[in-house]
Amino acid sequence: MNEPVAAQPLLRVTDLTRTYELARTRLFGPREQVHALRGVSLSVNAGQSVGIVGESGSGKSTLARIVMALDAPTSGSVLFGGQDLHALKPGPLRAARRDFQMVFQDPYGSLDPRQTIERIVGEPLQALHDATRDQQRLRVLEVLAQVGLRDSDAHKYPHEFSGGQRQRIAIARALITRPRLIVADEPVSALDVSVQAQVLNLLQDLQRQHGLSYLLISHDLAVVSHLCDEVAVMHQGSIVERGAPAELFTNARHPYTQALVGAVPRISPGGARARRAGRRMQKTPMAGAGTLE
Ligand code: ADP
Ligand code: MG
Repeated sequence: MNEPVAAQPLLRVTDLTRTYELARTRLFGPREQVHALRGVSLSVNAGQSVGIVGESGSGKSTLARIVMALDAPTSGSVLFGGQDLHALKPGPLRAARRDFQMVFQDPYGSLDPRQTIERIVGEPLQALHDATRDQQRLRVLEVLAQVGLRDSDAHKYPHEFSGGQRQRIAIARALITRPRLIVADEPVSALDVSVQAQVLNLLQDLQRQHGLSYLLISHDLAVVSHLCDEVAVMHQGSIVERGAPAELFTNARHPYTQALVGAVPRISPGGARARRAGRRMQKTPMAGAGTLE
């Protein structure tokens, strides 16, 4: 792989669209289409955290899967370190995967209940076939320590851990290949409110220690504001606004962004606007901020 030019972002997503064809409901009826992404462009520089915020169904997970090359776009491109991921053959793509890893929302569903933590966390290394078992074991212990877990945890199973600990395990698995980018899709949404800030702080510490970049996805503006220097607001498959979190809080231009900001009680006391919109408020650990669901 050629060294990227300094000015080139680590990740550059250009004009992505993704259309899902739904099954016909009648034999000769029309095929319905869902336009999950309608021309999304963004970039993430090395060491930068970019947040994607938007309500359920706005296309966030579709974007994450395409950036991770787990799904193909209908059109558009994903350049990672200058390589067009969706043009790579399986071998080079497998090798490129070392540099970008994903953390999913659900720490219950994303960890195989029949595998030990050592197996689960070591799995991405095993897929790369370039570490001996001993090297792999040592590296597992190293990343478990980095996320605040113990050596003895390596021999346990997922059910022996709390939700927050399971998400630490998922983060350890993402770290094991020493990636440059982590895509985290709703990484704290399934966690108790009291645990959310701990996991976000861990992500922030890891970023400082390892110079990581994040693409952090959440329906919650407060969560992405905690970690990100730049936030893009998605609505119905498009980015409708972007800026620094402080800018969005004080100066939101798009009505949808204003609704998101209005759902954070620190900015709009009582969240009356959000309640009028029929949205549920929930306390989060961030300075009394609320979430929009
Ligand atoms: P979000 O993560 O923001 O909630 P998604 O990316 O999951 O949004 O979904 C965006 C839109 O695409 C939604 O309308 C959803 O129903 C639709 N969608 C997502 N995945 C599929 C799929 N595999 N087949 C058909 N429609 C899908
Ligand atoms: Mg989603």
